[in-house]
Amino acid sequence: MRAIQVEQFGDPEVMRINEISLPPVSENQVLIEVKAIGVNPVDTYIRAGLYPSLPNRPYTPGKDAAGIITAVGPEVKDRKIGDRVYCCGSLTGCYAEQVICEESTVFPMPDNIDFSLAAAVGIPYSTAYFALYYRAHCMPGETLLVHGASGSVGLAALQLAKSNGIKAIGTAGTTEGLKLITQQGAIAALNHNEESYLDKVDELTHGQGVDVILEMLANVNLQKDLELLAKYGRVAVIGNRGTIEIDPRIIMGRNASIFGMSLFNATDNQMRSIHAAIYAGLENGSLKPIISTNLPLEKASEAHRKVLQPGAKGKVILTT
Ligand code: NAP
Repeated sequence: MRAIQVEQFGDPEVMRINEISLPPVSENQVLIEVKAIGVNPVDTYIRAGLYPSLPNRPYTPGKDAAGIITAVGPEVKDRKIGDRVYCCGSLTGCYAEQVICEESTVFPMPDNIDFSLAAAVGIPYSTAYFALYYRAHCMPGETLLVHGASGSVGLAALQLAKSNGIKAIGTAGTTEGLKLITQQGAIAALNHNEESYLDKVDELTHGQGVDVILEMLANVNLQKDLELLAKYGRVAVIGNRGTIEIDPRIIMGRNASIFGMSLFNATDNQMRSIHAAIYAGLENGSLKPIISTNLPLEKASEAHRKVLQPGAKGKVILTT
């Protein structure tokens, strides 16, 4: 089968398409015939060799995909051959025509969504859910700022917030991004490339500040975030690409909290519960991934460049 492989860490062109074969599935593993693949920023950090834990090479990138199960190991309990599924994490890499995953990272997809949409679910929706509810403990009726709402995680957060009675303000960096986040449930859309764009938050929250912030670029925004918080406000740091100086006095004065989060720390039980909630939202239509770009598997390099470009409008997908 065809698979993207990386032999040396480096720029997007290090990804090559090769013919490889996978071992037979064993124990609690499932084999998925991949129809579509979700491209995440983390795939680009690993490919560049700029991530704390790196795979042995050669390796096939990718954690998110959707397709049909074609084989199951003897200890698999809840999945069977023929199931339409998506995965969030894999053993052999998702940028391929087939992928082996542990059963605990494979989730059913409802009939009303196609494989491209399902491939856009795994990391973005579970990250948004984990940050919003497990880390920041956001409650219906609270005010949320999604700082970086036009990308995959941000749009998922807006949809989750809307369906649960949380009032979300969103930010984006382009006119199209601002329009998109308004369509996807933001009560106000602010341009993070404009000077003083956060001044409006005071008015939008009647001087109270926001209860929760989901932060996609903490090295740029964390100090500003702290100044926007209500008393007992919480910031969940989802994305970060550098360092920043903050004034801890602001946290003291507001009894505020900063939560770090890595989806990879979520337990199997937490993931099962998160994906059960996401399934319900996909099925009733309150959650629907937004795809910005669809490319064939052999264009993985282009997909990696695209995912890091400014002007996000949802998810970059590869199809087999
Ligand atoms: P994405 O689709 O590429 O979106 C990136 C978002 O960041 C866009 O909305 C972009 O807006 C926004 N952005 C750009 N400049 C900004 C600024 N100055 N202030 C605020 N936002 C800004 O990426 P994603 O998949 O949503 O992921 C978002 C971040 O979370 C990435 O850094 C990713 O690595 C990280 N992440 C972390 C975890 C975890 O477990 N901690 C899991 C998943 C993702 P415009 O393009 O409109 O300017």
